[in-house]
Amino acid sequence: MAAITAKETRRGERRGHGINHKSECRQYTSIEQALGDALAAYGVTGLAIYADGAVHRFDTTDKAKGNRNGWYVCPSLEVAVYGFWHTGEQHTVTTGGKADPAAAAEARLAAQRAREQRDAERRAQQVKTAEQARRWWATAGAADPSHPYLTKKRLAPHGLRQRDTMLLVPLFYDGELVNIERIYPDGAKKALFGGRAKGVAGLVGKLVDADRVLIAEGWATAAALYEAIGVPVVVARNADNLEPVARRLRQRLPDNVAITLAADDDRFTDGNPGTTKARLAALAIGAKVLMPTFCADCQRCTDFADVVLCRKERSL
Ligand SMILES: [Zn+2]
Repeated sequence: MAAITAKETRRGERRGHGINHKSECRQYTSIEQALGDALAAYGVTGLAIYADGAVHRFDTTDKAKGNRNGWYVCPSLEVAVYGFWHTGEQHTVTTGGKADPAAAAEARLAAQRAREQRDAERRAQQVKTAEQARRWWATAGAADPSHPYLTKKRLAPHGLRQRDTMLLVPLFYDGELVNIERIYPDGAKKALFGGRAKGVAGLVGKLVDADRVLIAEGWATAAALYEAIGVPVVVARNADNLEPVARRLRQRLPDNVAITLAADDDRFTDGNPGTTKARLAALAIGAKVLMPTFCADCQRCTDFADVVLCRKERSL
């Protein structure tokens, strides 16, 4: 991501962007005032601004309370840098209106510091979430085979655990439990807050001694495939995570273990993300793609779990 340079700042001023334009027309008596004005344009008001050189975070108005997506830092009493993590936006304001090269350099360093701090916070939160996941896992009992989700999908628990009404799917990174996916009775799925997500996966079956491994999106699909084919199935959780998971798995498994991407066929969704992302993941590691075969007249099923369930129900 490009830090704001003096040139970019000047270009912004020329275009007459609200914020920079205002600071060009107006001499502020303090950087707090200049920054306060700039943030007000984003609907952020009533913020106590500290021009102490440290990175401060604040909530943006377009996301839930406590989002802390906004940040600012005043590297000096003349310059402030602020931005929004979720949009990648970053701006500089000065008391004088014109940003000189020294101020721009200060701003660049400040933005880098803000990024480093955010990354450190994110890592610290991931460690906390992993601890929570291990605690939950250790204190949960075996999943009830008559849990509504398992009954609806006609699947065995395959080692899942249960906490209250939530099924717990353990999620691993480098063989370590780092997060948990909760499956609610209505089928809603949610990982624990703040945990590592990219490249993190669940597993149905055992990888040890397997000569073939499948990668699927959802836990139910993985369980259905495992029951049907009897090979271990890795749970990537969503289409976007298929490639990171495939890459990590290819690195970790011996070369003679075949990996196959078991795609969802989101045939009713624009761009068919399930199949598209599965193909990309397969391409990235030189793997094959397995597609679900639907009953001729079926207008409902989109993944392997659906197909298995559909057949069971049709054969009743
Ligand atoms: Zn069907």
